[in-house]
Amino acid sequence: MKIYIFFNGDFYPEKTPLLSILDRGLCFGDGLFELIRCIKGRFLLFSKHIKRMRDSATFLEIPFPYGENELLNAAKELTRRNKIKDGELYIEITRGEAPRYHQFPKKTEPNFFLVLNPLREMPEECWARGVKVITFPDIRWGYCHLKTINLLPNVLAKEMAKNSNAYEAFFTREDKKGTYLTEGSSSSIFAIKNGFLMTSELDNILPGTTRAAVIEIAMKRKISVKETRLYLKEFIESDEAFLTSTVSEVMPVIKINDRLIASGMIGDLTLKLQSEYKKFIKEHLEW
Ligand code: PMP
Repeated sequence: MKIYIFFNGDFYPEKTPLLSILDRGLCFGDGLFELIRCIKGRFLLFSKHIKRMRDSATFLEIPFPYGENELLNAAKELTRRNKIKDGELYIEITRGEAPRYHQFPKKTEPNFFLVLNPLREMPEECWARGVKVITFPDIRWGYCHLKTINLLPNVLAKEMAKNSNAYEAFFTREDKKGTYLTEGSSSSIFAIKNGFLMTSELDNILPGTTRAAVIEIAMKRKISVKETRLYLKEFIESDEAFLTSTVSEVMPVIKINDRLIASGMIGDLTLKLQSEYKKFIKEHLEW
């Protein structure tokens, strides 16, 4: 079957050569991306993802060429053309093509594309039994709140996780009190201790859409939420732990490096949030 992509306003078969080698995304990583779940042909938290991307583009002075409705229509058209109902929609914007100088010209036409693929396959038992994670030093820069396409540290961290038979790598930074966890290479981090739900504060990390949803769900259920500096030592001693992302949803974490968390058992609150998030998904599909 032919897979189509959307590029700068038109639809093309996916392997059509479209980008110039002078594209600043390619040369400098000068661009942004989003990944959105497509469920039963509809899109989860579409407007939140587009807002995050638009705000970051404004910050980087990349003109954002489309309105939300235009993008939703393009995404819908991809579900039709590609015959995909459950998938992942990848969106990328780059500053566009320009002679290769670091400083950017005031005016470039951004390149903008959407790719809709079937949802990647993940074993159900990850959600049922929990996963192992490893730690990896947070060697990234100071603007991690922007979802830029500069992902080499994340790529190296995930590769290390794969080579350690782990599901994810959690980035670590150091302060006077010790080692703390910031976020996963493509996920946000949560721990539960004495009934408190804790997650890394928004201090140079990506404000995850799933993270925000889980916080909202917890607050509605009167669970106390603390956005805080999450120290590795506390994480290991927590009663329950999980990670969140668009693809992983609420994924229990039972081991970090070689330390079991709560004897490797998935906690009740994690299970509750897992099922509440499933309900939340159904209520937040857009089109
Ligand atoms: N942190 C990073 C570094 C990520 O790449 C992702 C995945 N986009 C997340 C957190 C989770 O974000 P979301 O819940 O919006 O998928």
